[in-house]
Amino acid sequence: MKKKKKISVQTIIEVMIRAVFFIIYPALFSTAFTGIKLIVEQIIQRASLQWNSFVQTLVVLLVFTIVFGRFFCGFSCAFGTWGDFVYFISSMIRKKRKKKPLKCFSKAGKILRYLKYVVLLVVLLLCIKGYSSAVAVHSPFSAFSRFHQLKMADSLIGTGLFLLVTAGMALEPRFFCRFLCPMGAVFSLMPVLPFSVIKRNRENCIPNCKACNLVCPANLEIPSDKEGDNATSGECFSCGKCIGKCPKQNTHNGLPRRLWLPMLVGKAVILFVIFRILY
Ligand code: SF4
Ligand code: SF4
Ligand code: SF4
Repeated sequence: MKKKKKISVQTIIEVMIRAVFFIIYPALFSTAFTGIKLIVEQIIQRASLQWNSFVQTLVVLLVFTIVFGRFFCGFSCAFGTWGDFVYFISSMIRKKRKKKPLKCFSKAGKILRYLKYVVLLVVLLLCIKGYSSAVAVHSPFSAFSRFHQLKMADSLIGTGLFLLVTAGMALEPRFFCRFLCPMGAVFSLMPVLPFSVIKRNRENCIPNCKACNLVCPANLEIPSDKEGDNATSGECFSCGKCIGKCPKQNTHNGLPRRLWLPMLVGKAVILFVIFRILY
């Protein structure tokens, strides 16, 4: 008889955090990105900067990312959660057929990840040239919000892009986040405080082990804590998968491993309370 796989408390808590943000705050990422577009437009027009809910959301998420790493991308962004869900379903289907989960862009990913900066520049240029509303209507972000509200027919271009992106999500973990998301491009440029950067004690690693690298949705080689190397911190989604996977408990954020779960819950509560107070 087949042994049933136990679902860990950590997995249950992670799913609950994602579900709460997915249902209650499905548009935080697009709201924050609108904040960026507004700031750039105001700078170009040499107008005085206006503080509004878009800019406020952006500032909250950027400060949160600097302090806690990309927790928002890892657990609270509805589009990121959608990507993980699509990839999970695709991996389940392949598992049933006794095949490995797809990783179609793992080699090309090292170059493709720069594409998101090009997308960010193109979108901002279009907004500066006055195409801001067209970008808003036809972006896959907006199509996703309409999908959430069951109004997919409002923009066929947006819906088409959303479906293409969703197909990509089935082929590679975090396809949109790593390669195309303009908001992800901004987050990846943020400095992260040392206690939120994931590292590993490389000297203690099992020879030839790549478990943390293989489980990482961003396909990162986790840096050594001895080298003072933070090179991957911007691309890391702070998802903690490498921490859960390491057989030698080598991966860490500088704090004891037993604190990972309470800290995860704490971050979720802080972010949730901030948005409850603000909106
Ligand atoms: S990279 Fe973009 S889509 Fe992905 S989780 Fe972050 S904000 Fe959301
Ligand atoms: S698996 Fe580890 S290194 Fe990779 S994104 Fe998640 S937390 Fe970051
Ligand atoms: S999973 Fe652990 S032992 Fe294996 S390479 Fe990563 S840090 Fe080292």
